[in-house]
Amino acid sequence: MQFHEINLSPELIQAVEKIGFSEMTEIQEKAIPPLLEGRDVIGKSNTGTGKTAAFSLPIIEQITEETRHFVNALILCPTRELAMQACEEIAKFSKFKKYVKPVAVYGGASMERQIYALKNGANIVIGTPGRVLDHLRRRTLKLQNLRTIVLDEADEMLNMGFREDIEAVLAQIPEERQTVLFSATMPPAILQITKQYQTDPVMVQIQSAAKTVDSIEQFYVSVPMGRKTDALHLLLTDKKPASTMIFCNTKKMVDELTEALISRGFPAIGLHGDMKQAQRTQVMNSVKSGRSTILIATDVAARGIDVKGIDMVFNYDLPQDHEYYIHRIGRTGRAGKCGTAYSIVSGRKQEYELRDISRYTKANITEAAIPTAGEIKANAMHSLQETILESCNGEISAEARTLAQKLLETGYSSEDLLSAILQQQVTDTMKTLPLFDIPRPITRKNGRKQETRNTVRVHINVGRKERMAPNFILGALVDATGLTGSDFGKIDIYDQYTTVEVPKEEADFIIDAMQQEKINGHKVTVKLHEERSGKQERFGSERPRNGYRDGGRDRRGGKAFSGRSHDKRHGSGSFNRRKRKG
Ligand code: ADP
Ligand code: MG
Repeated sequence: MQFHEINLSPELIQAVEKIGFSEMTEIQEKAIPPLLEGRDVIGKSNTGTGKTAAFSLPIIEQITEETRHFVNALILCPTRELAMQACEEIAKFSKFKKYVKPVAVYGGASMERQIYALKNGANIVIGTPGRVLDHLRRRTLKLQNLRTIVLDEADEMLNMGFREDIEAVLAQIPEERQTVLFSATMPPAILQITKQYQTDPVMVQIQSAAKTVDSIEQFYVSVPMGRKTDALHLLLTDKKPASTMIFCNTKKMVDELTEALISRGFPAIGLHGDMKQAQRTQVMNSVKSGRSTILIATDVAARGIDVKGIDMVFNYDLPQDHEYYIHRIGRTGRAGKCGTAYSIVSGRKQEYELRDISRYTKANITEAAIPTAGEIKANAMHSLQETILESCNGEISAEARTLAQKLLETGYSSEDLLSAILQQQVTDTMKTLPLFDIPRPITRKNGRKQETRNTVRVHINVGRKERMAPNFILGALVDATGLTGSDFGKIDIYDQYTTVEVPKEEADFIIDAMQQEKINGHKVTVKLHEERSGKQERFGSERPRNGYRDGGRDRRGGKAFSGRSHDKRHGSGSFNRRKRKG
């Protein structure tokens, strides 16, 4: 059924169509008519079924010239994000309607601004129970003329411990009112609320295909700002997915990332809304034929395209809408097959956003490590070995055998010959590896000083002779590795060389990362420092200059939110909705 087939005003239908809705969703079809009649409604339906429009369209219809001066409707939501989102949507729906003024109120934001907005003609209020109650107590929110209350995601609100707040709000609103409750599940506590606070409610239930994402393994990696492409590079190199979709939020980002990946040798191709149909077709043909195995797209461009058998989905940017997360990762793991999704986040804000997504989608999103240089190498070696053994089992051409025979006749041992051939192969494999400049969190005990940390020294072949100073050395190390200054320990500068204390488990990575580097214009060689009895170091001219740095500062504080700082009971770095408390 289409929106214009029900009794909605032309302004609303126009707005809804402008947004791009034509058919109503099932919950909208079933709930809007009784809501328009003013009936109480209990709606049981999952997220992503279109509840916001279902309850807000009838509410918007109530706002008229006469009713516009008071709060007509109050919508209670479990989180600030959901409140903000619903508020934005209501604003969009009422684009062509006069008088409608939705305002969101939630904790953790300026009280003054909310009070100002409430005073200035708010007639639909969307909020979290705690903050709504707060405003009621301060009398900055007046509900004596309230006509509709909506409890959105009621089960979520109860899970978050909002029951008392909700009941306190319900006790303060007029008894003559419409009470609407939506919930994905109907536990006894919800049924009790409906019994106590609703009058003759219409039960609306939809059997939506559960947005089951159980078959998709969901991970995230947290990287410093500006390192997402490197992280992606390493993950793609390590995991070798046969087909990948990468989501970005803007066309510009799609273009930039496509270019970056192509220049790094990946068969990537971009798709975005600005492309003409012919271009889009070209892109899709390239993907379908397998010429391009990495498709980079915006949500809008990806909508409606049908690509099968995606192994892995990456969220290069986190989706702006939580629902998109489900759509995005739903590209993989189809038809009973397992899929994997990675979200790449930078900074606290994105980490929090991802946590909200995991809450909203009720998914477990586990922190994954970015593969290290060593791991990638080991994997490459392993697959080389496999390929060779596989070849041994298959046909070997006469030409190859003749060449082998000739080589053996030269008198070199077969082991020497084989090693020489492998060396060639190994070098080729390594050449295609990314620069190992991805920082990895250093595993350390809760930000404590690292005296007990296992450190080794790396040796850099420049020293006082090259007028090195600790800050040159440290700057180059930080640049090349992406680690922070505090990850490095003591820097000793000698005449001919310099040693730097580094965490033992990072030494290989640091040495690798420094291979291409220059320090103050000098090309350098970095290796593990051979800890001798210290002949050189003991004598006068080779005494190190004052380059000591305190390696104990921990500005980064380890893995930001891996449960540790937020909930000690769940030590692992994974988002899980059950961790939260309202
Ligand atoms: P819920 O509250 O049930 O989780 P939302 O109201 O947030 O669902 O809607 C989920 C998504 O579906 C949103 O992106 C919304 O814009 C979209 N949507 C809602 N109704 C329709 C419709 N009738 N046609 C197309 N898309 C819709
Ligand atoms: Mg909703």
